[in-house]
Amino acid sequence: MTGSMLALVKERPEKGATLIKTQIPVVGDDEALVKIDYASICGTDVHIYVWNEWAQKRIRTPHIMGHEFAGHVVETGKAVRGFQEGDFVSAETHIYCGHCYQCHTGHSEVCRNLQILGVDRAGAFAEYIAVPERVLWKNSKSIPADWASIQEPMGNALDTVNAESVSGKTVFVTGAGPIGILAVGIAKAFGASLLIVSDLSDYRLDLARKMGADVTLNPRRDDAESIVRSHTDGAGVDVVLEMSGSEKAIHQGLAVLTPGGRMSMLGLPDGPVSLDLSNEVIFKDIRIYGITGRKIFSTWQTVSRLLSSKLVDPSPAITHKLPFEEWQTGMDAMVAGTCGKVVLEISGR
Ligand code: NAD
Ligand code: ZN
Repeated sequence: MTGSMLALVKERPEKGATLIKTQIPVVGDDEALVKIDYASICGTDVHIYVWNEWAQKRIRTPHIMGHEFAGHVVETGKAVRGFQEGDFVSAETHIYCGHCYQCHTGHSEVCRNLQILGVDRAGAFAEYIAVPERVLWKNSKSIPADWASIQEPMGNALDTVNAESVSGKTVFVTGAGPIGILAVGIAKAFGASLLIVSDLSDYRLDLARKMGADVTLNPRRDDAESIVRSHTDGAGVDVVLEMSGSEKAIHQGLAVLTPGGRMSMLGLPDGPVSLDLSNEVIFKDIRIYGITGRKIFSTWQTVSRLLSSKLVDPSPAITHKLPFEEWQTGMDAMVAGTCGKVVLEISGR
């Protein structure tokens, strides 16, 4: 397909982005052209928008950001076999190579030659995106398109929750950002017996409650340790899901994790964090998991089933559904933290 499309483009190496007309991408032989219905804003897009240090090193302008989306295939390259025009799709953001050691050993989420959609190549804040077939995911038609657009971050949340079973366990989620609150809904669906959530924002704690949190606390005014202990017969929680990237939250989580428990860490601290390994980790005989990306595609399979069965209803987490033209309102809310997931309606149907 040729012609022009509307896209949110980072035109210059500075803060900001502009909605402009640009060329529809040309599809390679192994790619499909997808018309975007909905795209949701991720923290990574915010980093690119505000032009932080990471973005300055990584992004080459002009650049179309965005990678969480749902849309319909409108054209396929000649080597594409598994998709056809009209398919309802989303995509795994981690474009793996398929031939490195990690890809060969079941860890394509940490492929050594990883390329990231919307970071290393043109993204989804546009009417059309070209996507390699190997990362395309066929959506169930029973999933609403706006829900389908948030499966990628839901996959992060799922792998953080499910590093070990949460069934019957007491769980403390530190950080009620968009991914933290999705983790709350998922942990509930998998049978966590108690969900305690912390955040510095009361607005976000309210969203966590709507997603199923039993107890919420704000470390700015609450004593996290005494609250967690009072709800766990003094034992501390079985599981900590670290979804904030805050050093304080990491120490707090470790302090209330019961000896023999498990912590999964998804939140990304700004820099190195020091731990008292003997006392915070080793003598407590705990297990810590680092989580990055999603298992390709087993995590997608589970996320898809959670949504199509409505075992997880992500509606309270989607606080903003905005026409593409109002992207700035959504980006401002993301920067301010006054939102859950922000979904842009691009050509939503
Ligand atoms: P976010 O920044 O919107 O949410 C983080 C939340 O943590 C905020 O609401 C903030 O108020 C809260 N917070 C800050 N300090 C806190 C403290 N001391 N105690 C409790 N809460 C505190 O981020 P998000 O989009 O929800 O993502 C969650 C984290 O996961 C981020 O750190 C993000 O960078 C990271 N992430 C990692 C991966 C990965 O593959 N590992 C992928 C996506 C996101
Ligand atoms: Zn690889």
